[in-house]
Amino acid sequence: MQSRSRFKGSLVVVLLVVLAIVAPVSYLGWRQTVPGVRASLAMPRALGATPAFTVALQAARGNVTRVEVRVVQGGRPVSVAKSDAPLGPHGEVPVRFEAASVGLREGPATVEVWAHDDFWRPYRRAERPIASVPTAIDLTPPKLDVLAATRYVSPGGVQLVAFRVSDAERTDVTVGPRTFPSFAYGAADKGVRVALVALPYDYASGTPVAVTARDEAGNVATRGVAGELKPRAFPRDTIKISEAFLQAKVPELLPQRPPSQSMLDAFLVINREQRKQAEMTKREIGAKTADVPLWEGPFVQPRNTKVFSNFAETRTYVYDGRPVDTQVHFGYDLASTKHSPVPAANSGVVVFAGPLTIYGNTVIVDHGLGLQTLYAHLSSIEAKVGDKVTKGQELGRSGATGLAVGDHLHFEVLVSGVSVTPLEWWDARWIRERVNRPLKEAGLPELGGLASTGEKSPAAVASRPARRRR
Ligand SMILES: [Zn+2]
Repeated sequence: MQSRSRFKGSLVVVLLVVLAIVAPVSYLGWRQTVPGVRASLAMPRALGATPAFTVALQAARGNVTRVEVRVVQGGRPVSVAKSDAPLGPHGEVPVRFEAASVGLREGPATVEVWAHDDFWRPYRRAERPIASVPTAIDLTPPKLDVLAATRYVSPGGVQLVAFRVSDAERTDVTVGPRTFPSFAYGAADKGVRVALVALPYDYASGTPVAVTARDEAGNVATRGVAGELKPRAFPRDTIKISEAFLQAKVPELLPQRPPSQSMLDAFLVINREQRKQAEMTKREIGAKTADVPLWEGPFVQPRNTKVFSNFAETRTYVYDGRPVDTQVHFGYDLASTKHSPVPAANSGVVVFAGPLTIYGNTVIVDHGLGLQTLYAHLSSIEAKVGDKVTKGQELGRSGATGLAVGDHLHFEVLVSGVSVTPLEWWDARWIRERVNRPLKEAGLPELGGLASTGEKSPAAVASRPARRRR
């Protein structure tokens, strides 16, 4: 009996001894196996003249303490970012440097991230980078040449820009702060692109028009586009808001109006907010464009219509004898007979068909390269989104839906959602001289399939604004 209990006791002792050894050893082993800091780099494939990216760090346990980012080229490391302050369990280190001034040159290189945590481990590991990413230093900006541009430009008009670019990831054509897309043009291997840019109606002389190309390393090339600005004057008008007009239009355009809101306040919401919404929609739809020209020849003004209100007319709205609002009218108002057919101004694809706030029932036709036409206040719509239309095809009937006084067609020409004067696109000569001649002189194919005949389009003659009705 006695020997048996002694055996039991020694077994407990042995177990305790084993446990006393195993537990700390496995604990130390666990501490040793806890992984170090992990790094992820939001880095472009190549590094340009002034690289800027961030390195995100994550400690498995403890805090990230010291971080260093190095670029190694030809076996020589260059420190480009360093952080000695504790970052916490995770953090980001911004990297920004000038490749040339730290002694880097064009060619292959490796980005290394070195980092430590404050988690205690029994044995110190050998020093090595926690991330090592092969890359290339690229200090050469894209090649960029402007080949052709419309020479004489006007506020509220269009400028064609053609350029050749190589080694670029993206290219933008800008008018001041506004960016316009460009499209591959002609033989694919030549790197030629064209863009139609809109000079807004309030374009200020001296606002730069430029082409900017950026490669994947972030190197940028910029070329200014020359043009001689011909001033263009825009009319002013006064519109009297009658009680009857408000009674007719406010319930249609603002059905959810709170009962406490006056008719005039409701009108101001419509005239300001809904107008703004429509402008935003026009920009969004402007991006939905074909990357090839779909139009052919000059755009047509509907037959037997008279222009009775002009593009970029500044309108003062008068209610009860006092001015209550000022807005700019972005199209041409064309009057004919009631519910007259509305033809597509040129061939294209319908990209919008439906109600559009103050525009009422509206159709927008895309003609490619950002060029679109808009038809508003329609009483009925005969086209749907996706329809291919030919020049002259009926899109619907004129009407007075939206913020319209009386049956008429509100017609706009848009370039990437920015309204421009229809006069230029109604004019075969303008298209020939301002769009196709610069292309031809640069040895490029003409846009919109317009043959260089001497004929003058009848639309160009009819387009001169008729005497004002009001
Ligand atoms: Zn109008």
